[in-house]
Amino acid sequence: MALKFDYLAKDPHSEARRGRIHTAHGIIETPVFMPVGTFGSVRTLDHTELEDIGVQIILGNTYHLYLRPGPEILKDLGGYHKLISWNKPILTDSGGFQIFSLPHQRVISEKGVTFKSYIDQSYKRLTPESDIAFQEVIGSDIMMVLDVCVPSTSSYDVCVEAMNRTHRWAKRCKQAKTREENSLFGIVQGAIFENLRTESAEALTSLNFDGYAIGGLAVGESDEERDHFTRFSAKLLPENKPRYLMGVGTPHDLVRSVLAGVDMFDCIIPTNHARQGVAYTFAGKVKLRRVFHAREDKPIDESCACYVCKRFSRAYLHQLTKCEEPTGWKLISYHNTWFYERLMEKVRETIVDGTFSTFAKNFLENAEE
Ligand SMILES: [Zn+2]
Repeated sequence: MALKFDYLAKDPHSEARRGRIHTAHGIIETPVFMPVGTFGSVRTLDHTELEDIGVQIILGNTYHLYLRPGPEILKDLGGYHKLISWNKPILTDSGGFQIFSLPHQRVISEKGVTFKSYIDQSYKRLTPESDIAFQEVIGSDIMMVLDVCVPSTSSYDVCVEAMNRTHRWAKRCKQAKTREENSLFGIVQGAIFENLRTESAEALTSLNFDGYAIGGLAVGESDEERDHFTRFSAKLLPENKPRYLMGVGTPHDLVRSVLAGVDMFDCIIPTNHARQGVAYTFAGKVKLRRVFHAREDKPIDESCACYVCKRFSRAYLHQLTKCEEPTGWKLISYHNTWFYERLMEKVRETIVDGTFSTFAKNFLENAEE
């Protein structure tokens, strides 16, 4: 089946939306946070745990999966859902962001990108066509177009060139798509120029994608610029399609971007910051490496229902983190991913009952960022 988006409710005091995405692997309630499973696993957490937490969809990275296990093995094994034993929706990026982050190891032309594999140093090539073909082999429920990523602080001329090529590649990606159940999102570019954002949104919506991502943010601009361009870009997109802000962010970023009308997010923060002993709660951040936690015989969050908070103290998590025990990383990752899910549940509930703006204001003012 093709992707379908139900627009269920709008917050009366902001642009926040409550929606539901139907995919071949099930339903996604939005706004949604998608944990990142770069190599086939959300770091330190297995899929049974993700199911217990209530994760609705995970993200896979095309660039890494292309290098290992690669198209042949994935095809032989029947796709990515089967390989990793995850029966819920999967979104894949196009790999563009990672490839463009390798400035000395890639060559870009109108046809596509050539880059050096970090595994065996061989040269690999991805074109808009082969990128989509590979995402179809992965079996991704939501595929992304291959786009040209430049830092948001690039000059106007560089941004125009990248944007125009992104549009030409988006069209080629759309033409290369062969399967209805693998839906495809376009990516709005245009850095921090309002006229380019407008032009990009118009060019992409005319191609009628299943949804739209806001790309080219969180790559060098200030927080104020990011907020402004998130809001500006979201308003340019059709109401009846999901909107995805790529690579964002902290709990504060999520709440601010929902206010701006964004439906989908992904980020490595919950598990990445867990490694440094940072836990998130509705009251803000808890930095478990701090010395005073060594004597604290209480959970990360007394009101949290996750098994980590029911059983383990901050003192124990402090001890594990200081000693760099993988178990500490894992326990905090579990709590953080649990918290992100409960945060998004609260966001969805309050949009429906009309209190989201009040909740967002309290959270943004009172929770330590
Ligand atoms: Zn917890």
